[in-house]
Amino acid sequence: MKKVLVLGAGQLARMMDLAGSPLNLDVKAFDVRTNQVVHPVAPIHVYGDLENGIKEADVITAEFEHVQHDTLAICEASGKLLPTSTAIKTGGDRRLEKALLEECGVANAKHKIIESKADFDQAIATLDLPIIFKSALEGYDGKGQWRLKDAAQADDIWADIEDFIAQSKSSVPQGVVAEQMVPFDREVSLVGVRGRDGQTAVYPLTENHHAGGILSVSVAVESRQELQAQAAEVFDKITNKLNYVGVLAIEFFQVGDQLLVNEIAPRVHNSGHWTQQGADTCQFENHLRAVCGLPLGSTAMVRPTAMVNILGEDSVPNEALALPSLAIHWYDKEKRAGRKMGHLNINGKDELELAQRLNQLANILDADAFPDLREFAANFLNKVSS
Ligand code: AMP
Repeated sequence: MKKVLVLGAGQLARMMDLAGSPLNLDVKAFDVRTNQVVHPVAPIHVYGDLENGIKEADVITAEFEHVQHDTLAICEASGKLLPTSTAIKTGGDRRLEKALLEECGVANAKHKIIESKADFDQAIATLDLPIIFKSALEGYDGKGQWRLKDAAQADDIWADIEDFIAQSKSSVPQGVVAEQMVPFDREVSLVGVRGRDGQTAVYPLTENHHAGGILSVSVAVESRQELQAQAAEVFDKITNKLNYVGVLAIEFFQVGDQLLVNEIAPRVHNSGHWTQQGADTCQFENHLRAVCGLPLGSTAMVRPTAMVNILGEDSVPNEALALPSLAIHWYDKEKRAGRKMGHLNINGKDELELAQRLNQLANILDADAFPDLREFAANFLNKVSS
C-alpha cells in the first residue's frame, strides 16, 4: 500500500482520499493551520506532525499552491515531493506564472509586473483600459483584485494597492500584476495529467461560469477538435517546461477561436470535479496515479456533465437528490457565507438531456442560494435546442 501525504486538508485532499481508497492508496493530509497530519475524511484522527508525516509517506503532494515555502523546502529535501516546489510556487505567484507563460511562448493577456508607483503609471500608459490589477500572491476566487476602467480611478486604486501590500504577512514580498482586460467570449479550462514518464492525458475542455468571482457552474461537453488541440498543446508546453507530475489545470479566456491563458493551478481543480461522474477516471484518481508512478487512467468523457458548486449552504432539497444522474459531494465543512460547502454533478446521455436535467435542478434549488443558475441553465438549453 503506497502512502501519500497531501499538503492541505481541505475538500481536495478529502476527494483524493475517497478516490484513492479503491486503489489501496493510503492518503493523509497535512493541515497547515494546525500543523498536524490528519485523516482527510475524518480529521479528528491525528497522526502527528509534519516531520512524522514526511517520514511515513512514500509520496508527498499538494492540494493548494499557497503552501509556505519553508514547508515545501522540507518536503522537497525528502525527495518525495511531486510536483516540484518550483511548480507549486509558480502556481502561487502570478509573477512567476507570467514568466513561465512567456518562456513557454503561450498566448496570454498583455501584462506588466508592478513593483513601484512608476511601474503602475507605466502600466496605465502602455496597456489599454480597462486594466485589472491582481495581487501576485494569495489571490484566489477574485480576491486581491482591482479594476481600473477610467484613469481618474488611478490614485484611489494605487492607494488601495499600497495598503494591501503593506498589510501582507507573506514571507515572500507581495506584489501586483497589471493585466489588460480581455473581451472574452467565454471562460474555459483544461484539466490534464502528466505521469512520471512524461506521458500526458487531458480531459475535454470545460466551460466555466463565475458568480461574484467564484466558480458557480462548469459544463463539460465535447469541444471542437481544433480548440481542444490548442489547449492540449499549451498543456504539454507548460507541463514539459516544469517537468510536471500530477494533475494541472489551465484556465483560459476564449476570444473567437483563440485561447489566452488566464492562470494555471498546479493541482486538482474545481473545474475538474465533473470528472467524478463524467469521465472514465476522475481527476483525483489520476493525480494519485501520476504521483505514485502508476499508469494514467483514461480521461475520456463518458457523458456530458455539469457541476454546480454549493456555496454557503449546508443542505439541498431531497427533490434534487431524486433527479436521475444527480450526485452530491459534501465536504463536511461548517456553514459560512460564500464558502465552498460541496458540489452537485449531473449528466445526460447527450447535451440536450444534460441541459434539460440542469434546468430541472436549477428550478428545484433556491434561486437566492444559487444566483444566476436558472438563467445559465435556460440559456444552455436554448443553445442546445436551437
Ligand atoms: P482570476 O483570479 O485571475 O481567475 O480572475 C477572476 C476573474 O476575473 C476571472 O475568472 C475573469 O472572469 C476575470 N478576469 C481576470 N482577469 C481578466 C482579464 N485579463 N480580462 C478579463 N477578465 C478577467
